[in-house]
Amino acid sequence: MPWAWVGIEARECAATVFEDIVGAAHCITDPAGLRVYECDGLTGTRVRPAAVVLPATTDEVARCVRRARQRGMPIVPRGSGTGLSGGALPVEGALVVGTARMRAILSVDLENQRMRVQPGVINLDISKHLSPLGYYYAPDPSSQSVCSIGGNVAENSGGAHCLKYGFTVNHVVAVTMVLASGDVVEIGSAIADPIGYDLISVVIGSEGFLGIVTEVVVRFLRKPEKTRTVFATFPSTDEAGEAVSQIIAAGIVPAAIEMMDALAIEAIVAATHVDWPLDVGAALLMDVDGVEAEVDETAESAIAILRGCGSIEIRDPRSESERALMWKGRKGAFAAMGRISPNYYVQDGVIPRSDIARVLREIAELSERSGFRIANVFHAGDGNLHPLVLYDARSGDESERAERVASQILRICLKYGGSITGEHGVGADKAAYMGEMFTDDDLETMHYVQCAFDATQAFNPTKVFPSPRLCGDRAGAR
Ligand SMILES: Cc1cc2nc3c(=O)[nH]c(=O)nc-3n(C[C@H](O)[C@H](O)[C@H](O)COP(=O)(O)OP(=O)(O)OC[C@H]3O[C@@H](n4cnc5c(N)ncnc54)[C@H](O)[C@@H]3O)c2cc1C
Repeated sequence: MPWAWVGIEARECAATVFEDIVGAAHCITDPAGLRVYECDGLTGTRVRPAAVVLPATTDEVARCVRRARQRGMPIVPRGSGTGLSGGALPVEGALVVGTARMRAILSVDLENQRMRVQPGVINLDISKHLSPLGYYYAPDPSSQSVCSIGGNVAENSGGAHCLKYGFTVNHVVAVTMVLASGDVVEIGSAIADPIGYDLISVVIGSEGFLGIVTEVVVRFLRKPEKTRTVFATFPSTDEAGEAVSQIIAAGIVPAAIEMMDALAIEAIVAATHVDWPLDVGAALLMDVDGVEAEVDETAESAIAILRGCGSIEIRDPRSESERALMWKGRKGAFAAMGRISPNYYVQDGVIPRSDIARVLREIAELSERSGFRIANVFHAGDGNLHPLVLYDARSGDESERAERVASQILRICLKYGGSITGEHGVGADKAAYMGEMFTDDDLETMHYVQCAFDATQAFNPTKVFPSPRLCGDRAGAR
């Protein structure tokens, strides 16, 4: 293996290799400490790394990378470990470089609406810092209270409000990155439309295999003057899906429009006690925002469409705290599944918005055939599905069967011209499906891009690109 850990036999030695760089307290090699880093949010797959380092500066990251490469160690960057595709899953003999100590806000440029932060800064902390000044950072993954901005960059993370405002790639303008050689490069620019290739868009969404991002420059926005939230219930996901299509087709762009099916509503109500009816087939949670003068008019146009599509009940939250509770319910939906199932597998696929109702019907049929309950809670405006396959890992081979059901959902997405991931990335989990979506030429081109940054493939090996794993997988170009 090109990444075999040459030159160091025993795990204890790892501490001495890196401790002069990061300090002994920030170099983890004991088995109990390493357990924490064995997986990310995809908890069913675990690999114990050889060592974990927690550097504090770009220079420390660069020195750790150089030393790891001298010893042939593969390197796995890690933010908060909330990824759902095994992107931060270690590989055998790897050095995990965690950014948990890199949480400084380095500078704020109010005039140009730019902020420079270290990669371990938590997504929500950017908005918390800016809020008193009347600004916020738009991309809002449901995990925003724990996930890091470095992880967001690597995954090109989205969130409920990305429908109107765009994904991470639309809000990160520059990064500092440590390459596999240990060299430090600046990519992108704090100014608009810099000359040259758009390399920042190559880095964003590259899932940690081009380098380790050590500083991030984000673009932040003024808070909208007014936001109006609307909650609407429907007899089934058919009517709710149709309402989403019609709203967007009418030229209305809500800040967010999220769908939950009956099972998702049941779990959210159980977890948050939000006052939502349980005898409905689906619900939409929508934000309309903008300047005061136009928000109500836009919201009323959208509400007319909701009614026309057969909505049972339409509610405005009665207070800011009820609004916050509704959004807390939606954003906590994955965790809420714990109320109704011991385990769940989060799938992430994309379909054309106009096919939401048809695809949800196919998923319901799959649920019936397989015997697995499948809850749906997702970014309906983007057609970004998150079917949650509920299972009990203690029961026989349910884990494997649930994973197979989840993979069939991806194939349904592909059948409708969609994608195998909307925002959670390919990681280790979906590498096997890349060959179903891309041709060998596509994969080879992607591989050339990777090699332009790092021909040694030091970062995150075994991720993203397919290698034969399951019967029928295409090998891809590697
Ligand atoms: C409950 C829950 C809800 C979620 N909701 C959403 C959602 O709405 N939208 C969404 O997009 N995602 C969502 N996610 C997925 C996840 O939170 C995002 O992918 C997030 O961006 C991961 O950030 P992290 O800091 O946890 O990264 P990690 O999981 O630690 O790492 C993710 C990837 O980034 C790489 N990486 C991390 N830091 C760096 C760095 N500094 N330089 C280079 N590479 C790096 C890692 O190698 C890995 O490949 C959710 C997850 C959970 C558990």
